[in-house]
Amino acid sequence: MTFRLSQRSRNNLVGVRPELVSVVERAIQITTVDFAVTEGVRSTKRQQELFAKGATQTLHSKHLTGEAVDLVAFLGNRISWELSLYDEIAAAMRQAAIEHAVGLRWGAAWNIPDIRAWKGTMEEAMHYYVDARRKLGQRPFIDAPHFELV
Ligand SMILES: [Zn+2]
Repeated sequence: MTFRLSQRSRNNLVGVRPELVSVVERAIQITTVDFAVTEGVRSTKRQQELFAKGATQTLHSKHLTGEAVDLVAFLGNRISWELSLYDEIAAAMRQAAIEHAVGLRWGAAWNIPDIRAWKGTMEEAMHYYVDARRKLGQRPFIDAPHFELV
């Protein structure tokens, strides 16, 4: 099964850095799980609102500069938050990043500076991050839809 970006996804890529767009466009061709682009460029006002709600950790998000995208998994016509689906999307994004020579960080494995260098599965990458946070006594901040340029 091959998937295609919807018009809404394409609209949400407007203003995103071209190298990141090229990675997303390649990832949709090779992913085993359908996804939609829910957010690309974000306004400062929206970032402040998200920060106030605790939905983001920073006021200096790469969304503000077109260097980040959020990809939401679809099962059929429905959005799913099942983390295993995001492992599959991340695997496609990693492969696409390798092919396009673009450094990429994933929001479910913040401590891996560039997922192209990760040798395990993306599920293992997420566990690696969660374990590292727990060892520090800190709660993991899993943002599995989020990908950003390094
Ligand atoms: Zn994001």
